[in-house]
Amino acid sequence: MFIEDLVRQFKSLKTPFYYYDLQLLKQTLEQVHTHGISKGYHVHYAVKANFNMKILSIIREAGLAIDCVSGREIERALEAGFQPDQIAFAGVGKTDEEMQTGLDYNIFSFNCESLQEIEVLNELARKTGKTANVSIRLNPNIEANTHKYITTGLNENKFGINPEKLPDLFELLPRMDAIELTGIHFHIGSQIRDLQPYIDLCERINSIQQQFDKNGFDLEHINAGGGYGINYESPDEEAIPDFKAFFEVFDNHLQVKDGQQIHFELGRSLVGQCGSLISKVLFVKEGINTDFAVLDAGMTELIRPALYQASHKVDVLTSRKPEKTYDVVGPICETSDTFRRGVPLPELKRGDLVAIRSAGAYGQVMSSDFNLRERAEAYYSDEFNGK
Ligand SMILES: *Cc1c(COP(=O)(O)O)cnc(C)c1O
Repeated sequence: MFIEDLVRQFKSLKTPFYYYDLQLLKQTLEQVHTHGISKGYHVHYAVKANFNMKILSIIREAGLAIDCVSGREIERALEAGFQPDQIAFAGVGKTDEEMQTGLDYNIFSFNCESLQEIEVLNELARKTGKTANVSIRLNPNIEANTHKYITTGLNENKFGINPEKLPDLFELLPRMDAIELTGIHFHIGSQIRDLQPYIDLCERINSIQQQFDKNGFDLEHINAGGGYGINYESPDEEAIPDFKAFFEVFDNHLQVKDGQQIHFELGRSLVGQCGSLISKVLFVKEGINTDFAVLDAGMTELIRPALYQASHKVDVLTSRKPEKTYDVVGPICETSDTFRRGVPLPELKRGDLVAIRSAGAYGQVMSSDFNLRERAEAYYSDEFNGK
């Protein structure tokens, strides 16, 4: 991925910085088109994974819709050229102002996560003289076998409405005269690499849909959410997730009624592999069992290792020496500011460049100015010669 010529051009840039391979992004979107969109599925990009304008416009051009989790994300999506009727708006804690933003633009759907939210939205919509399209986020109680901070579909999670509360929902909805029930929504977690949770999800959706049917509610759409994972260990061997296998699960297991639309909200699987964090080795320090490579990038640029114990592959771009074992750490005064422990890498020296891979999703957008550090720049493959 990092040909010599590109690395030479990297050397004149201030580190750390994010590098985005737009060719890979486009190839990834083509796969989503071939296996999903062209089969009639509606795919919303979860903008929270990466809200860079350049990335957003490429995703819009590829024919995707959008999934937002804040009022400002709605505004960003519109700025990037998405249409209001492509916007799904999720989130367990929408403010009145954010709901009002959605109402003002007549968005495709509010994904509501509690009965109280439905009542508040109804009131706001009534005052505005509008009807809000609502999709109910239900918590399917599925174990997604992912990290406990990114599993979202279990009973004890804060997300969604528990299906046991459906009788209350069915009783409430007819009284909500400024709300139009258009669908049901699910999102079971993130970085899901195994397809079984999605098969389980389809089965839960089928039975939940029957309950809506029995109570006389016709659903225009089902939104199965996102969460599909990427290969962090081998980003070159599996640069594009297997979207064929993903969509086939829904082809094979979801009972779809005539005219019903199926929506998805994919984030990480679309943009994760196209981004890398490029950083310079500041110091190499000898330890007892392992040496430390101290980088100029840290948890302020990429917090996933510190936050979720996530592991990103580290590629050395400027050394081909025999391997030594390193703890690759950041400069921040927190022990969790560590990218890898005990990883074999070509011998490093001060000034070597490394690429921290698979950083396109939940990387740059989660950066902070902790320690009053400067925000890292972003560069895109089309800005470099010969790429
Ligand atoms: C974060 C989120 C997504 C996207 O998750 P990925 O794991 O990045 O695919 C989709 N839907 C909702 C409601 C979300 O909160």
